Order: sequence, then C-alpha cells, then structure tokens
Amino acid sequence: MEDLPEIDFLIVGAGFSGLVSAQRLCQAGFRCVVIDNRNHIGGNAYDCYDEAGVLIHPYGPHYFRSNSARIVSYLSQFTEWHEVSYQIKSFTQQKFWSFPINLNTFEEWLGRPSTELEWRDYLENQRIAIEHPQNSEEVILTQVGWDFYRMFFEPYTLKQWKRHPRELQASVCGRIPIRLNRDDRYLTESFQAMPAAGYTAMFEKMIEQSPGLVLRLNTSFAEEKPRWSYRHLIFTGPIDAYYDHCYGSLPYRSLRFERETYSGEELRAREAISGKPGLWQPALQVNYPDLEVPYTRTVEIKHATGQKIDATTVVREFPEDWTPDKEPFYPVPTDATAQLYARYKARADQETNVSFIGRLGTYRYYNMDQVTGMALTEAEKLLQKYQSTLSPSS
Ligand code: FAD
Ligand code: UDP
Repeated sequence: MEDLPEIDFLIVGAGFSGLVSAQRLCQAGFRCVVIDNRNHIGGNAYDCYDEAGVLIHPYGPHYFRSNSARIVSYLSQFTEWHEVSYQIKSFTQQKFWSFPINLNTFEEWLGRPSTELEWRDYLENQRIAIEHPQNSEEVILTQVGWDFYRMFFEPYTLKQWKRHPRELQASVCGRIPIRLNRDDRYLTESFQAMPAAGYTAMFEKMIEQSPGLVLRLNTSFAEEKPRWSYRHLIFTGPIDAYYDHCYGSLPYRSLRFERETYSGEELRAREAISGKPGLWQPALQVNYPDLEVPYTRTVEIKHATGQKIDATTVVREFPEDWTPDKEPFYPVPTDATAQLYARYKARADQETNVSFIGRLGTYRYYNMDQVTGMALTEAEKLLQKYQSTLSPSS
C-alpha cells in the first residue's frame, strides 16, 4: 500500500472553528490540513462582492460581537475593526417599530410620548410572573407580557423555526434584549464591530499566519479521510452526519436567500423611505414577524459595512425545512434535540483522537465569538496533549 502523507491534524471545515484551531496549531509547529466541501473559506461567515460590487454576506448577515477581551484580541491579529451600532426595525401593522423593545417602542405603541416610569409601570402590570422561565414563550412573557409577545415574537418564531416558542429553549428568544430605556441597539455585548475589510480578508490573514497550513477546498471528509495519515481529527461539520445518523437525524433549519440590487435612480427614489443617502431601507435589518409575509427579515448589509458605492443589495430570508441538499444553518434548540444530541456527545466523548467543535460539531446555537473561544480552548488542550508526543515540523 502506498505511504500516505503524514500530518498531525486533519481539520474538517474552513469556518471560524476550523481555521482558528488550525492557526493556533500551525503556529505551534504542527502540520495541519484543513478541508471544506465548499469552494471558499470562512464557512457561514464568508463574505464577497456581488456583481454590482457590493460586499455581501451570502449565508446571512454576520454581526460580530463579544464580551471577551481574549477573543477580540486574538482576532485583532488578523484584522482592523469597523465599529458598528447594529440597528434594526420590526415591521408589522403597516409600520416600522423600534426593536428590540424599548421605551421608543412603547411610545410608538401608545401613539404619544411617555417616560421610563410609565413604561416600567406598564411592564409591571403586563409581566407574567414565572420564576424560572422554561421556554421561549415564558422568557418573553415574564419580561413584557402577552401584547408585545404576540406582536413581535410568537409569529416570527413560528415562521423561523416552524415550532411554537413553547417548544424552544428559553435561550432562543431570551437572546433578544428588552430595554427600559431608549437603547435600541440589537445586541448587548460590549464589543460590537465587523472586520474592517470583511470576514474573508480576515480569514486570509489568519491563513497567512498559519505556517505550513494545507488548505483543500471543494472536497469532502469522505474523499479526504483515506488520503492522509493523521494523528488527530478536528471535525466541525454536523456531528450526526459524522456518525452516519446512527441514533437518528438531528433537526436543522435552513434558509433561502433572495437578493436584489438597487442603484442609480431607483436607489435615489428609495432614499425618501430609508431617510439615508445611498440606502434602501431605514435600518440594517428589518424583521417581519407577520405570518402572512413569507420571509423573516430583509438585510441591507451596506448599513453596517459603510461601503461607499452607488449601489446596495437587500437580501430577503425565507426559512426552510432542512433537507440533505441544503445548508444546515441552525441547530434547533428543544429539550428533545438536546437529549438526542447528548447520545451523540456521549459517543464523541469516547473518542481519543477526534474533537468535535463549532456550531454543527456541538449542535449549539453559537455565535462567531463563542465558536472562536471554543476553538482556542480546544487548540490549547490539543497543544498540551500532543506537545510531548509529536515532533512538530521544522
Ligand atoms: P461553519 O461556519 O458552519 O463552518 C463549517 C464548515 O464545515 C462549512 O464551511 C462546511 O461546508 C464544512 N463542512 C461540514 N461538513 C463537511 C464535510 N463532511 N466535509 C467537508 N467540509 C464540511 N454569529 C454571530 O456571531 N453573529 C451573527 O450575526 C450571526 N449571524 C448568523 C446568521 C445566519 C443566517 C447563520 C446561519 C449564522 C449566524 N451566525 C452569527 C453564527 C455563525 O455563522 C457561526 O457561529 C459560525 O459561522 C460557526 O462557525 P463554524 O466554523 O463552527 O461552522
Ligand atoms: N425573534 C423574534 N422576533 C424578532 C427577532 C427574533 O421572535 O423580531 C426570536 C426568533 O425566535 C429568533 C430568535 O429570537 O430565531 C433569535 O433572534 P436573532 O435575531 O438573534 O436570530 P439569528 O440572527 O440567529 O437568526
């Protein structure tokens, strides 16, 4: 039998999880091969320029945020940052609403000015007392009561997940803040910024600083596995696929994106609605909770990138059932899926030379900073484990 090339780590997936772990391991002198079945790096965070020259996020909008100085400082080796105040609106009852729910939303609902005191009193009366919210319905009801829950959360969640908020873990809707003041930023983390030249440019820098890294795109784990002799596998794809769905398939939600680009006169005409030169809609993202509207949100990423160009691209997101020909964008956080995942996790814990990391590898609704943290931690563990037994390439 032909000798296979010897490497230390075979890494499946060139997204945040795969590339961050590869960077740390290569930097320490280990030989890593990263593979991905897509034709590009970056996983779902990949960005690129469309036909009109607009920088877009083809797999949905990626708003970087973090509370971790360690993670921000790690990524800052590969990028400058462009600070962004991620602002979005919700559109229902024929108008735009300030969102996430805050004092401005309350005033829009009342149709007159109000105060923090009145807003607080209103909420005190509307809140449903539930000591330990168990699901996504309860977590919103304990904060704002039925009216706002039914307006903004129940239909949107049904549309996005095809499950009632009662079936979803509290963390799903619980990640959306509710504010007593007028703060209308969508996110709560202390650091909110996007890579100044985009995510793909950041990953390219990361690869440049991964000595000896071999990157193979357009290829699958099944194809690559027999081609390498590796000491350890890092798998960032779906854990149930790795085990041939032996305990049954974990559910995922997918998305279909429809893009439209506007420029010139057409764009000028919209400026009356957006209220902003060169922009089509009044905010980076508009959420459409109503069930009659088939999409969940429209995103105009140019609000966040600040790109100077006489064109803009607006993307509509249509939630879809996942089937094997589609991307498994979201794990579905319910108690039943947590139990099924636990069976795969128990099997994964028996492995001595396979690590599962990332959103799909651990079946967790994780953000980019969280998977970066996970990859850094796993790389540290692997450095400890293999430092003495492997002879790093010279
Ligand atoms: P991925 O990016 O999914 O990368 C895994 C890679 O592995 C993929 O490229 C895949 O093609 C490849 N792969 C899988 N199986 C195989 C195989 N068998 N063989 C070869 N290759 C394989 N996070 C934020 O922080 N902020 C946001 O605003 C945000 N918005 C999001 C919006 C959407 C619509 C989605 C879907 C996610 C969003 N996220 C956001 C989450 C973010 O995308 C993830 O946290 C992050 O990309 C996960 O990185 P990863 O490397 O774990 O996985
Ligand atoms: N959500 C909602 N209404 C909204 C926005 C969010 O009901 O206007 C719920 C919905 O269940 C959604 C979850 O909160 O899936 C998390 O929202 P987020 O915008 O963080 O979703 P993501 O960007 O991950 O798709």
